[in-house]
Amino acid sequence: DDHNYDCDVLVLGSGPGGYTAAFRAADMGLNVTLVERHSVLGGVCLNVGCIPSKALLHSAKVIEDAANMASHGVTFGKPEIDLAKLLDYKQSVIDQLTGGLKSMASKRKVNVVNGTGTFADDHTLKIDGNDDVSQLTFNKAIIAVGSEPVMLPGWPEDERIWTSEDALSPDEIPGSLLVVGGGIIGCEIANVYAAHGTEVDIVEMTDSLIPGADKDLIKPLTKRMNKRCGNIWVSTKVTGLEAGDKLTASFEGKDAPESKDYDRVLVAVGRKPNGKKIGAENAGLEVNDRGFIPVDKQCRTNVDHIFAIGDVSGEPQLAHRATHQGKVAAECCAGEKSAFDAKVIPSVVYTDPEVAWTGVTETQAKKEGIEYTKGAFPWAANGRAIGLDATDGNTKLLFGKDGRIIGAGAVGSGAGDLIAETCLAIEMGADAHDIGLTIHPHPTLAETVGMAAEAEAGTLTDLY
Ligand code: FAD
Repeated sequence: DDHNYDCDVLVLGSGPGGYTAAFRAADMGLNVTLVERHSVLGGVCLNVGCIPSKALLHSAKVIEDAANMASHGVTFGKPEIDLAKLLDYKQSVIDQLTGGLKSMASKRKVNVVNGTGTFADDHTLKIDGNDDVSQLTFNKAIIAVGSEPVMLPGWPEDERIWTSEDALSPDEIPGSLLVVGGGIIGCEIANVYAAHGTEVDIVEMTDSLIPGADKDLIKPLTKRMNKRCGNIWVSTKVTGLEAGDKLTASFEGKDAPESKDYDRVLVAVGRKPNGKKIGAENAGLEVNDRGFIPVDKQCRTNVDHIFAIGDVSGEPQLAHRATHQGKVAAECCAGEKSAFDAKVIPSVVYTDPEVAWTGVTETQAKKEGIEYTKGAFPWAANGRAIGLDATDGNTKLLFGKDGRIIGAGAVGSGAGDLIAETCLAIEMGADAHDIGLTIHPHPTLAETVGMAAEAEAGTLTDLY
């Protein structure tokens, strides 16, 4: 191209998708500008998502574990919670990571521009909120503008009605909290508050927590959530919310009361992509009704030289999908023949116990008529799990008609880490013998993966 553009590649948005794309493109020798409306890099994931939620879930787990130690002969006193310090800790985790991004950007000579970008045409981005730069021209662009929480229509404007972002930076630990939506984000935040002393109720429209996961994996989680929460109402809707001295929610469902008062209400009913907010039409970009920008395997939009990645490009809206797409888009900008062709994208719920799954689920297999066999191993028969008092866990592997692994699921402490091995097994086309004959260290929870495979292969011998 003999045009004189300001940059080879413009990346819009600096979440896990955007920063990965920018760094990869720079590493491949391209001149990269990264535009971000916030003063820090890292997007939702680092600032108000994955990372801060896990920092707070860690103290939740320690509090509950400490209380459970009484039966091991170790008794701790009642926890005293200094909210300011807890939030300082959370912020220090974020700062460490966003600071790291900043120095990695400057080391790579990525030009970071602070401001809100909207497309003026298919080679120009208009920048608002920056005194020095009002527009930038680009040869190629990668859109990584992410998503934002959905609020419920017709609800009052009130500071006590929280998004996940508010819930991760609370002004106080409320006495009572209603969590609307029992999906991943709702359950994680419910777990945090319940452990820190809040009376938590959860209301979920479908018939179980974590819609999308197999019911057998959700059972141990539901059991523990029932212990830590006041009420969990499934197949129930919130029909209205009134803001007075308290927030009064009304319900429709067989077990829920007609109405109940709360100090705070968290709305965790999903996230909507930001595709409609960037002047996409000026660049000729297709955006669907929901705000997603459709892409092909190269992460290319309908406009040849513009790519889209991460939450704005489709589902599942997860950070690890965004980072992998970011690499693909950057490599395509550099002329490589890359494609996003992952067989599986794992999902993890970081509650206690954790729930994790990847590839084909049993629910999906049954619905779509996919033939499978199953090898499972209960954690009650794993020595490490018994020592950890984590016997309510379970690991299962699904194998397809040709004997290769097609899916896996686990519930229990650290299940998210266990599932990583099964993702590799699926990508490499392993069968039950490949996994079962792989020597797993003893005593670990990871042995349950090997044992589940041995159960499938018919070679299981020793327990513990
Ligand atoms: P984002 O991270 O959303 O970043 C987009 C960036 O673009 C933002 O910085 C935004 O300011 C910027 N931007 C938007 N519009 C403009 C514009 N016009 N101009 C300039 N800048 C703009 N995922 C996981 O995989 N694991 C988890 O454990 C997990 N936990 C989560 C917990 C919570 C509470 C939440 C809310 C989300 C969680 N997620 C998790 C989801 C994860 O955060 C997202 O999938 C991920 O951040 C998506 O990355 P992204 O790069 O697409 O966009």
